[in-house]
Amino acid sequence: MASPHVLIFPLPLQGPVNSMLKLAELLSLAGIQVTFLNTDHIHRRLLRHTHVQSRFSRYHNFRFRTISDGLPEDNPRSGEQVMEIFGAIDAVTRPLFREMMISGDLSSSGVTCIIADGVFDFAVGVAKEIGVPLIYFDTISPCGLWTYLCVPKLIEAGDLPFEGKDLDAKITCVPGMEGFLRHRDLPSFCRTSNVADPIIQLVMREVQQIPRAQGHIVNTFEDLEGPILHQMRSLCPNLYPIGPLQAHLKARLGAGTTSPQSPSSNSLWEEDKSCMAWLDAQPPKSVIYVSFGSLALMTMDQFMEFWYGLVNSGKRFLWVRRPGSVAQKEGESEIPSELSQGTKERGCIVAWAPQEEVLAHPAVGVFLTHSGWNSTLESIVEGVPMICWPYFVDQQVNSRFVGEVWKLGMDMKDTCDRTIIEKIVRDVMEVRRDEFMQSANLMAKLARESVGEGGTSYHSLDRLIDDIKSMRF
Ligand code: UDP
Repeated sequence: MASPHVLIFPLPLQGPVNSMLKLAELLSLAGIQVTFLNTDHIHRRLLRHTHVQSRFSRYHNFRFRTISDGLPEDNPRSGEQVMEIFGAIDAVTRPLFREMMISGDLSSSGVTCIIADGVFDFAVGVAKEIGVPLIYFDTISPCGLWTYLCVPKLIEAGDLPFEGKDLDAKITCVPGMEGFLRHRDLPSFCRTSNVADPIIQLVMREVQQIPRAQGHIVNTFEDLEGPILHQMRSLCPNLYPIGPLQAHLKARLGAGTTSPQSPSSNSLWEEDKSCMAWLDAQPPKSVIYVSFGSLALMTMDQFMEFWYGLVNSGKRFLWVRRPGSVAQKEGESEIPSELSQGTKERGCIVAWAPQEEVLAHPAVGVFLTHSGWNSTLESIVEGVPMICWPYFVDQQVNSRFVGEVWKLGMDMKDTCDRTIIEKIVRDVMEVRRDEFMQSANLMAKLARESVGEGGTSYHSLDRLIDDIKSMRF
């Protein structure tokens, strides 16, 4: 009988790679052999960081393998190129993966289970062909994923496509979200005039394949998304809610892990640690941490509105300005000097931050975020209220849940105006501060409990480990 051996295959983007690596560490710690299938591009960027190399070399039962993502190395693979990335995966990676599993070097490696990103609709077919169970892991939010799963219902109800309709009209055909979900809160790809859009078609394929998997891993916890998980179980009965993964990994690695990098940092960019010393010099809960993740893009006009809004609010801020994240037209000026002055006094700017450490720092009081799911969970774990400016995919749903359901902050989607930004900052940091701090502290406590011994996510992970260990042939 073969020993348990999992092949983990993430979508080659920062968020999914980060979550899947955390899962890989958790499974390695449980004594399961893990092969992590990275694209060549991600692998090169990840393994440039010696701390990642040394962290994974600790696990004798862990190894990396690589596959092409079908794009030339000089392709920037930015947020604008997401459909190009999916197209290349479909044309190149899909057949390569099948060949690798059927006759290539992974065919004889004794893989007993595949864990693939839910967006890889082809993975379930390959798994069935070779007779190995497949578990999907969708690294987006379950609340977002549930709206994806309801896309056929949205089309049937005439809610999709909704271009030109009232964005504030309520959606009634997403079970569990009646009453608060508006058209504007649906995933960004719903804002289309044509349901034949490639991205809608991709989602439809995903929706068809998901129930064919043996199980489904989600990065969440029952106290956060219990009602949504209940809805999802009607389509995916074998759910493993094992999040928040970063807290879960920390808990299982044991408190007191000391490392020069945050123990679970899987950054593709070089982290600028100088901001930690800057944070050390700021008063408790005084800083707005501003980051829009690894893919979001904004125009120079939007950037300036945020800038004025933050500087005019008079608050301190730590801003991640990822290279290439602000689309600058030719001849467009850089930041005006009077604003740079405002920054020097109260602000710090870096190209990429050690985000988990930043959010855990006592000086951070608010997170101005694009509502990516990893960022949202990282904020929840540290009890930091959020101001949400969603960019795409599940982020529109996540920000609605943050503002309306969990009451962990304010959702400013579809607005980008300096006076509104200034007002929202004051609301979250002053006027409604106690209310948001109270709910953020409570949710952080529930998150920690869920991954502690006896907690719901702890129990789910044990069940996942047991199920994987029983998948032998
Ligand atoms: N992140 C980071 N440093 C930064 C900005 C982001 O380490 O300066 C990490 C963040 O901690 C999170 C990931 O990048 O784990 C972003 O994932 P998320 O799902 O929030 O958004 P995406 O980048 O996929 O839009």
